[in-house]
Parts: sequence; structure tokens; C-alpha cells
Amino acid sequence: MQITGQCHCGAIRFSATADPAKVFACHCADCQIISGGPFRAVIAVPADQVELVGTPKQYVKVAASGNRRAQAFCGDCGTQLFATEADVPETLNIRLGCVNERAQLKPVVQVWKDSAMPWLPELDSTPAHMRGRDSPLA
Ligand SMILES: [Zn+2]
Ligand SMILES: [Zn+2]
Repeated sequence: MQITGQCHCGAIRFSATADPAKVFACHCADCQIISGGPFRAVIAVPADQVELVGTPKQYVKVAASGNRRAQAFCGDCGTQLFATEADVPETLNIRLGCVNERAQLKPVVQVWKDSAMPWLPELDSTPAHMRGRDSPLA
């Protein structure tokens, strides 16, 4: 399917041909910290299938194994866009949050479930509170 997306300020936009069966949720500590959320969800897309407009900033995360991963984000608004191989990008793990079609893209696999927030399964029964269009928490 075709996906499109952009950062919050609009300086960076992308479109891609993506496989909806390649949507993953990761509960590892790095994903929690870097995303600022309880977990991170991505869609994995071959780098040559992605058309990117604008130049993201990159933070290179070095794993204990020495593996280097570039974390791309908008240098103006800070929106996280994707992660990829730091040296030769082969696959872009595009952050689901900035993909316009994200509601249709359900994760097929959860990674690092052992470090998932213990309260996640209860979230569905947490009271919902709507306060108009603008989130007071954003
Ligand atoms: Zn931006
Ligand atoms: Zn992770």
C-alpha cells in the first residue's frame, strides 16, 4: 500500500510503498526512551521505496554489540521519523506516529514484550476523557 507522512511542522515529508504485514511494536528500553512513549511502533520499508522531502537530523545509537543505528528526526520540531542502518540504509523503520495511514496499520509482532509496561493491557479499560480537539497534553 501507499503511505504518506510528515513531521509536525511539515519541514519533512515522505511517501512510500509499504507492506502492511511489516508493522512492529517494540517495548525495549531504547524505544521507550527515544520515543518518549511506553512503546514504539514502526513500519519497515525498503529504503529504495521511500521518497523523502527535506533533510532529517540524525542521532546514531550505538548498541552494546557495536551495531550503529541512525535515528532520524526533524531538527526543527523534533518529530521522530525513522531509524535505519547508520552506514548504508537498507530498511527504514518508519515511526508509525507520523504516518497518515497509521490507524490501518496494526502491529503484527511485538518485540521485547518482557520489558513492556505492565499496565498496557489495562489501558483499554481506563476511563476516556475527551476535551475537544486540542489535547492539553500535547
Ligand atoms: Zn518538523
Ligand atoms: Zn526497541
